[in-house]
Amino acid sequence: MRLTVLGCAGSFPGPESACSAYLVEADGFRLLMDFGTGSLSALQRYASLTSVDAVLLTHLHIDHTQDACGYVVVRRYAPDGPLPPLPLYAPAGAEQRLSTAYGEGSLEDVYLFHTLAAGTTNIGPFSVTVERVNHPVETYGVRLEHGGKVLAYSADTAPCAALEQLAQGADLFLCEASYLDGVDNPPDLHLTGREAGEVASKAGVGRLVLTHLVAAWGSEALTFEAAASVFHGQLDIARAGARYQI
Ligand SMILES: [Zn+2]
Repeated sequence: MRLTVLGCAGSFPGPESACSAYLVEADGFRLLMDFGTGSLSALQRYASLTSVDAVLLTHLHIDHTQDACGYVVVRRYAPDGPLPPLPLYAPAGAEQRLSTAYGEGSLEDVYLFHTLAAGTTNIGPFSVTVERVNHPVETYGVRLEHGGKVLAYSADTAPCAALEQLAQGADLFLCEASYLDGVDNPPDLHLTGREAGEVASKAGVGRLVLTHLVAAWGSEALTFEAAASVFHGQLDIARAGARYQI
C-alpha cells in the first residue's frame, strides 16, 4: 500500500495544508479516505482527476467532506461526457448532506452511495474494517489491510476502546492529535498528542503519524513531544505531500 497525505489540517485549512484527505493506493486501485476542504487541489498533484476508484468518508463534518461537492463538477461535466457513478462509502445521510451542500438536486448520477456500518467489507483490493469511534456525530475509524500490511486511521475521535482495536498491530497508524495536552479540552471530541501516543503504544503499532493538528491554535513541537513521551516507535507529524510505503 502507498499512503499519500493530500491534506492533514484539522478543522479548517492551514497555511501549509488542506483539510483531511488521504489517498491510499494498491494494485492500481485508488481509495480516497476523507475529502476535506482544499484537498481536490492537492489530489491533482498525485493522481489524474478522474483516477479515483472509491471514496470513504469517515464522518460528515465539513472539514472531511467539502471537496466531494467540487468533485461533482469534475465527474458530471467531464468534457468527454459524464463519468460513471463513483462508489462512496459514508455514514447514513451522506447523499442528502452532500446534495444540500452542493446546492442543486440529487448526486446519485455522480456517486454510488454505500452506507457505512461497523464491520469488515472489501473495497477494491482492500479489506476494510470500520468501527464507531468517539466523536459528536456518527464517525468511523478505519483499518485497511492489504498484502499482509495494515494501515489504521483514527478519523476524528476522543479516546475509546474501538480505536485501540482498529490500530492493533498496525504497520502505520494515522492518528489525529487535535488538542494540546495540559489544557482544558472539551470531552468526547478529539485526542491530544499524549493520548494518541498512548493508544499507539497499547496497540503496538509500528509507526505513528500524527494528523489533524490545528496549525493556528496548536503546536507541532508540543504535540510531538507529548506523543513521544509515551510512544517509543517511529513517530512523525503528517505533512501535506508526505508519502508512506506500507
Ligand atoms: Zn470531525
